[in-house]
Amino acid sequence: MTVHQNFIGGDWTGGQEAGDNINPSDTGDVVGRYARATRQQAEEAIAAARAAFPAWARSGIQQRHDILAKVAAEILARKEELGGLLAREEGKTLPEAIGEVARAGQIFDFFAGEVLRLAGEKIASTRPGVEVEVTREPVGVIGIITPWNFPIAIPAWKIAPALAYGNCVVFKPADLVPGSAWALADIIIRAGVPAGVFNLVMGRGSVVGEAMLNDDRIDAITFTGSVGTGKKVAAASVERMRKFQLEMGGKNPLVVLDDADLDIAVDCAVNGAFFSTGQRCTASSRLVVTEGIHDRFVAALTERLKGLVVDDARKSGTQIGPVVDQSQLDQDNSYIEIGKSEGANLVWGGERLNRETPGFFLQPALFTETSSQMRINREEIFGPVASVMRVKNYEEALEAANDTPFGLSSGICTTSLKHATHYRRNAEAGMVMVNLPTAGVDYHVPFGGRKGSSYGPREQGRYAAEFYTTVKTAYTLP
Ligand code: NAD
Repeated sequence: MTVHQNFIGGDWTGGQEAGDNINPSDTGDVVGRYARATRQQAEEAIAAARAAFPAWARSGIQQRHDILAKVAAEILARKEELGGLLAREEGKTLPEAIGEVARAGQIFDFFAGEVLRLAGEKIASTRPGVEVEVTREPVGVIGIITPWNFPIAIPAWKIAPALAYGNCVVFKPADLVPGSAWALADIIIRAGVPAGVFNLVMGRGSVVGEAMLNDDRIDAITFTGSVGTGKKVAAASVERMRKFQLEMGGKNPLVVLDDADLDIAVDCAVNGAFFSTGQRCTASSRLVVTEGIHDRFVAALTERLKGLVVDDARKSGTQIGPVVDQSQLDQDNSYIEIGKSEGANLVWGGERLNRETPGFFLQPALFTETSSQMRINREEIFGPVASVMRVKNYEEALEAANDTPFGLSSGICTTSLKHATHYRRNAEAGMVMVNLPTAGVDYHVPFGGRKGSSYGPREQGRYAAEFYTTVKTAYTLP
């Protein structure tokens, strides 16, 4: 089997090692073999990016626009094929995977436009005769480290603004899902980025990731992944006084009030908690339900869960694909056991399922009679597992929703304008959803959270400029 190579300093280069990319719907199916870069190769990529930066930073906006627009067009034209690859390597359903690929294309399209809209400010000086000009300049070499659960959209929302604003990139995708990342890199490279501007270094976090964290020639690191790794990125970056941005875990609440439309609430819960196999940082893992609707909500949600089709990600009709790998499945199962031992009531699911092919299929699990102190309500599980917390009224619901170390997305289902408005203002989260699932966001507006979920400037939309540029204030006495 051919080995998909890394791309360093303008050349495709093999690693010393390579790994198999395994289909979680069928563990006998090898999606491909992908090189794993060494520490030395990671350092070569960083050196190449450093060397390419001065010219790229001065490149014209037309060139950068055209490259990004070309990337967008190719991704969108190939969305079905790339969606098939994504579903095969990561396990989200084919429609979800095609949707993610389309989103990656739209992100490149958006930032192609942003290249042309980059503007500064001319501000009057307090000193007569002096001119003040505020401009944005590229930061330099950006290290991009991404997780496995959005193998093309997250790389896209980091790489597109990095290149748009004139930075060079060293991109390290998650070791588990190099296929979509490699395909994206191939598209970017063929779109005409000059040598060294964009580098792909696949491989292990402990080798490639660590090499990036510990290299002074990287000016900024953007990271999405677990809290544990995020803390390492932060520590290494503070040590070097380097800019960094972290998007990490979530324990997102969906509040359901007595006056909610029951169908909407159940749709939001099924989609938010269980679609994409619950493997979303914005998943609604805590369903906070007031007592007047509690029993009807649990009954209707359980009925829906019984009918969900869990199967091969690429099979038509599948609603929930497999868990991504054995270690994530072990984590999900261990939290299901923890929930039971904490006294929560498992009303549905949690069984390992057998399908035609050997895969990591898990029946979506729902706990009731849970409380904020339980570990299943405090720690991110990252699987198709949700718990219901029964509360008396809106005030208790808001308190429970905010009682978490995380703060990414927070939802409420209600027909009350008063409660919806109060919740929007008082939910301690970066994103608030009213009568919508906590997961599923637009690509042209800011994305990010508070508390233990995020650190640094927001990603996506025009707000991305905060991270990928540095502001210069110039004073001139003509
Ligand atoms: P992870 O932290 O294990 O890995 C993320 C990336 O970091 C991978 O590329 C990995 O190889 C790399 N890495 C691992 N160890 C490293 C080290 N020592 N130095 C440098 N890099 C290292 O996370 P994961 O399991 O791939 O992803 C799941 C996590 O991502 C979940 O916690 C989820 O909530 C989070 N996530 C957050 C968001 C968000 O926007 N907030 C979005 C998606 C996923």
